[in-house]
Amino acid sequence: MTWEEARAAAGPRSVAILPVGAIEAHGPHLPLETDVIIAQAMARAGAERLAARGVSATVLPALPFTTARFAQNFAGTLSLRPATATAIVVDLAAGLGRHGFALLAIANAHLDPGHLASLEAAAGDIRRELGLPVAFPNLTLKPWATRLGEEFRSGACHAGQFETSIVLAERPELVRESIRATLPPNPASLSRAIRNGKQSFEDAGGDQAYFGYPSQATAAEGRATIEALGAILDEAIQAELGAMADQAR
Ligand SMILES: [Zn+2]
Repeated sequence: MTWEEARAAAGPRSVAILPVGAIEAHGPHLPLETDVIIAQAMARAGAERLAARGVSATVLPALPFTTARFAQNFAGTLSLRPATATAIVVDLAAGLGRHGFALLAIANAHLDPGHLASLEAAAGDIRRELGLPVAFPNLTLKPWATRLGEEFRSGACHAGQFETSIVLAERPELVRESIRATLPPNPASLSRAIRNGKQSFEDAGGDQAYFGYPSQATAAEGRATIEALGAILDEAIQAELGAMADQAR
């Protein structure tokens, strides 16, 4: 976009979608930017659903850096402090509000607890201090968590079947196929380990930075998952737009 195109995209009921990923270890078979690829796919799928109903949504360049403390001992992982991640998102929202966007939506599938807390804090600050509505479907919470397949619900879902399938659909050339095919399942539940106070992938039972079933991944499942993520984002945005319309009445 040029600045004039961005000016034209803003306005009442205009939606800006920020894909937020991480640069983080994702097993020996997926690239560090896996969560960026997933967030971009989610944002695009959500924007397509909105466009089909006549709602214009602008997908921003992805924010690739955030908090990733669980993976920080693995080479390549670059973790921001949660307060830094919160401040970046709030600053971006201030710019979007200044230029007339009516709603910020956050497309995110990176589930590090410090990261999710930083986004929840950012959403709160943006609503309170900037008066800008925010749609942020936190995938670890109801109702969204139940819609993303069995591996996701089990919590063994980092660089496993769920995420590997999406990268196979979006950027197959980045998947190290010969390695993926040989990876044994790791059914250790990352979400349970987090609830039990673990602080790293190693402590949670993932000494190769993956959980779940990467060898089961398929591009077809990835395409279906991207649609499910797009639907979740679309529904969260529709709910916010509905609340804005109610307030305006
Ligand atoms: Zn991930």
